[in-house]
Amino acid sequence: MSKSVQSRLSQLPKVDGVLQRPELGAWAKSPLAAGKVRELVDETRLLVLEDESTIIPDAADLARMAHDELDKRFRSPLRRVLNGTGIIIHTNLGRAPISEAAIEAMNAVARGYSTLEYDLDRGRRGSRHNLVREHLLALTGAEDALVANNNASALLLALTALAKRKEVLVSRGQLVEIGGSFRIPDICRVSGAKLVEVGTTNRTRIGDYDKAISAKTGVLLRVHPSNFRVVGFTEEAQLDDLVKLGKKHNLPVVDDLGSGALANVSSVTRLPHEPLVSESVAAGADVVTFSGDKLLGGPQAGLAVGKSAYISKMRKHPLMRAVRPDKLTFAALTATLQQYLTADHVQELPIWRMFSLGVVELEAWLGPVFTDVTAAANDAGLEVEIGRSVSYAGGGSLPEEEMPSRALIFSGTQRRLKDFQDGLRLADVPLIGYLKDRRFHLDARTLSIESPDEITKLLIAGLEELS
Ligand SMILES: *Cc1c(COP(=O)(O)O)cnc(C)c1O
Repeated sequence: MSKSVQSRLSQLPKVDGVLQRPELGAWAKSPLAAGKVRELVDETRLLVLEDESTIIPDAADLARMAHDELDKRFRSPLRRVLNGTGIIIHTNLGRAPISEAAIEAMNAVARGYSTLEYDLDRGRRGSRHNLVREHLLALTGAEDALVANNNASALLLALTALAKRKEVLVSRGQLVEIGGSFRIPDICRVSGAKLVEVGTTNRTRIGDYDKAISAKTGVLLRVHPSNFRVVGFTEEAQLDDLVKLGKKHNLPVVDDLGSGALANVSSVTRLPHEPLVSESVAAGADVVTFSGDKLLGGPQAGLAVGKSAYISKMRKHPLMRAVRPDKLTFAALTATLQQYLTADHVQELPIWRMFSLGVVELEAWLGPVFTDVTAAANDAGLEVEIGRSVSYAGGGSLPEEEMPSRALIFSGTQRRLKDFQDGLRLADVPLIGYLKDRRFHLDARTLSIESPDEITKLLIAGLEELS
């Protein structure tokens, strides 16, 4: 090694010195900082050995680099995004945003202790299942209720508790897969029940169930085909008839409703009727399962309501312990259910507000954003307008049912639009839109829960990056 290389290497900052630098910020005390700094010093040494004239960063530079790399690597991958897709219950974007009251309720119990399993009246141990029982009974007309982590676990619990080592009868037209890996046949297998398919893919009659019933039958299962429609020459047995058949053979009817509406979405927007939980209860279903974060508009949860005999069997099953939700879920769920009880859900629950906006309101909402971004768009070589779009309920609810909506629509070369879309997605606060008919759309319906000023700023920053 030449003298000059040696003298240059001696200029390398010492690891201990870098670790004292304020530029390390929050990482100063972390054991990860020493490793990172050592790595950066070693890399620099190799560069100097390769090329004597390499610029050597000082201690402050290295500390800053270590800080930035650690920040980048450990930044939470779970981040807030702004949803411009127009899909209200977007499974990939976290399904239902929850209400302010639900957030406050979570805050209140998160900060300290709570009555999660404490009965204040008696001054002794209580049950978390009682926290939402009254609410669910009042809202659905059921005799009893319980809450699990999600609808998949509620259904798993129902089949395990009611049909283990027995047969579950399901129509062939309802052997559905609901996104990802939730498949009815798999849930049956995991529960230890045996799936028996009845009828055909497009037509199943009540007689098909009747013929399949034997001493081995444990449950008659109906699954709401929430994320698809079978059209044409189709028939499914009615819930009333299934209930009659179940009664005759003393077999419980489990109705997996999925999206499970507590109130009529079609009362605020022109969407077709989505089955209400109370309708299934009134029709006599023994157990009805549904999600907390679809049309209910609350936190992720799986609710099961129905006849006491069956719900209490589920509640006492050891699997209940494995699928029970935590205090934050109960807090948010109770607050959400209260908003239905006081009929404030349309104003207070974000998904209901989004459902209820008409195109005139959506245009009015977009107006100031459009005005403020037009110049920046033109400078970046793009045209922008307020145009027609369609939004969807999403989340496996009301598939293919389009709601007329309005969007900020950008047009220009495909290259520019793609760069714009990527830039918005990769920004500190990501804004997600979609390309359709060679134009970039940001739907107002799902953006309407955000501040228009924030969106304007993000758009202008994204456009400036392009020019
Ligand atoms: C969405 C859905 C499920 C799964 O619910 P999760 O809450 O996601 O576990 C099950 N069944 C039906 C019919 C559904 O629509």
